[in-house]
Amino acid sequence: MKLIPLGVGGAFTERFYHNNYVAEIGTKKLLIDAGTTLRESMKKAGYSYVDIDSVWISHLHFDHAGGLEELVMQRFWQFKDGQHTPIKTPVFVHQKVYSQLRKLLSAALDNQGRTVDDFCAFTVVNDQDIIHFEGVELQIFDTTNSHAKGLVSSGLFIKGPLGNVLFPSDVKDLHKANLLRFVNDDTLAIFQDTSFTFNGVHAQFKDVLAYYPKEIHSSIYAMHYNDNIEDYLQEIERAGIQYVKQREPITLPLK
Ligand SMILES: [Zn+2]
Ligand SMILES: [Zn+2]
Repeated sequence: MKLIPLGVGGAFTERFYHNNYVAEIGTKKLLIDAGTTLRESMKKAGYSYVDIDSVWISHLHFDHAGGLEELVMQRFWQFKDGQHTPIKTPVFVHQKVYSQLRKLLSAALDNQGRTVDDFCAFTVVNDQDIIHFEGVELQIFDTTNSHAKGLVSSGLFIKGPLGNVLFPSDVKDLHKANLLRFVNDDTLAIFQDTSFTFNGVHAQFKDVLAYYPKEIHSSIYAMHYNDNIEDYLQEIERAGIQYVKQREPITLPLK
C-alpha cells in the first residue's frame, strides 16, 4: 500500500490542507476522508476526482466530509462525446455515521428527480464486518464519543497478509476508543491524530506516548497536527515517533 497524505493539518489549518489521504492498494485508490480543502489538495497531489475508486468517511466534521458533495457531484456530471456518463461513487461508511451522512448529502442531492443513491453506492458496515478490497481487509470501527462527546465517528483498520495499519482518524480519548486491540506484532504503522498543544477533541502528544507501548512508538506517525510543527520536531525525534509530511508517500508492505 502506498499512502499519500493530501493534507496533514487540523480543521483550522492555514498552512496545510485537511488531513485526507489517498491509499493506493493494488490497482485501486481509496480516498480516506474528504474535507473542504479536497478540491485543491487532490490536484496538488496529481489526482482528479475521477481517479478515486472508493471513499471512506470517518465522521462528519468539515475537514473530513465537507468536500464529499462536490466530489460525488463532479463524478456524476461526467460527459463523453456529449453524452452524460455518470460515475457513481462507492462510499464505505460505518452504520452509525451513515444516517447522518445520508441526511447531509440528501439535503443537497435529492432533487430534480434524483436521490443520493444516484450519486453514491453506500457500503454500510458495523464493527465486525470486513470489506475485501484488493487483497486486504478493511474494518471500520466505531469511535463514537471518543473524539467529541455526542459525535458519531469511526476509525479504519487495514489488514493484509503481511501486516496491518491502524488509522483511527480523530480521537481524543485513546482508551475509550480501545485502539490497542488493533495493535500487534504485524502492525506496520499507526496514523495518529496528534496535537502538540491542549485540545479538547484531539489526542495530545503526551497522551499518545503514554497510551501506546514504547516498543511500538517507532510505528506511530503523527498527523492532523499544528501549523507550527517545526517547533515540535525535536520532541518528536526524542520520542522516536514519526510524522506524516504533506504529499510525501509512505509505502507499507501489507501484502
Ligand atoms: Zn479533523
Ligand atoms: Zn473531527
